[in-house]
Amino acid sequence: MNKSEARSYALQKRKEVFIKQIEEDVIEKIIASKILEPFQHIGIYYPIGKEMNLLPLTIYYKDKEFYLPITKEEISFVKYSKDNPLVDGPFHTKEPKGIIKNRDEIECFIIPCVAISLKNQRLGYGKGYYDRYLSQYKGLKIGIVYSNAILDIDMDSYDLVLDIVYSG
Ligand code: ADP
Ligand code: MG
Repeated sequence: MNKSEARSYALQKRKEVFIKQIEEDVIEKIIASKILEPFQHIGIYYPIGKEMNLLPLTIYYKDKEFYLPITKEEISFVKYSKDNPLVDGPFHTKEPKGIIKNRDEIECFIIPCVAISLKNQRLGYGKGYYDRYLSQYKGLKIGIVYSNAILDIDMDSYDLVLDIVYSG
């Protein structure tokens, strides 16, 4: 299917899932895999709509630093901390205030995906923010997706390829 068909299909299928159990499972899988252990600076996201909320990882890994996206013309990442209250951002997100962290000092990004192709390419909401932000990025890209949204999709050469995917 094409990207636009896959986006509609996945967003529709997402309505049927029971998010709480899946979120817990995915958090457990991430912790059990120890994938985050080598890293000190980690990009994560503030969940919107039915995106899985993985922010409990920031409590579990108290000694690591996590960064959330802020959206202007493009995305960039700012440190997330309990002492720094989040403010409303676009698309119902919440964003920290503060200094933008250099992308390449963030060692890995946990990235929400609307769907993922059979070749691990990411489908987002259609704005291409992560494609542009992480093109040429050398660190680890971790995709998060519902299992019913891993699909045979005709992707484009500029679509972000995930190194590893956690689904539930
Ligand atoms: P999403 O990745 O959110 O699913 P798309 O892949 O459809 O969205 O991309 C949205 C737009 O972003 C496309 O029109 C594409 O031209 C643009 N885009 C994606 N990657 C790049 C890039 N590396 N450089 C310039 N434009 C890009
Ligand atoms: Mg894309």
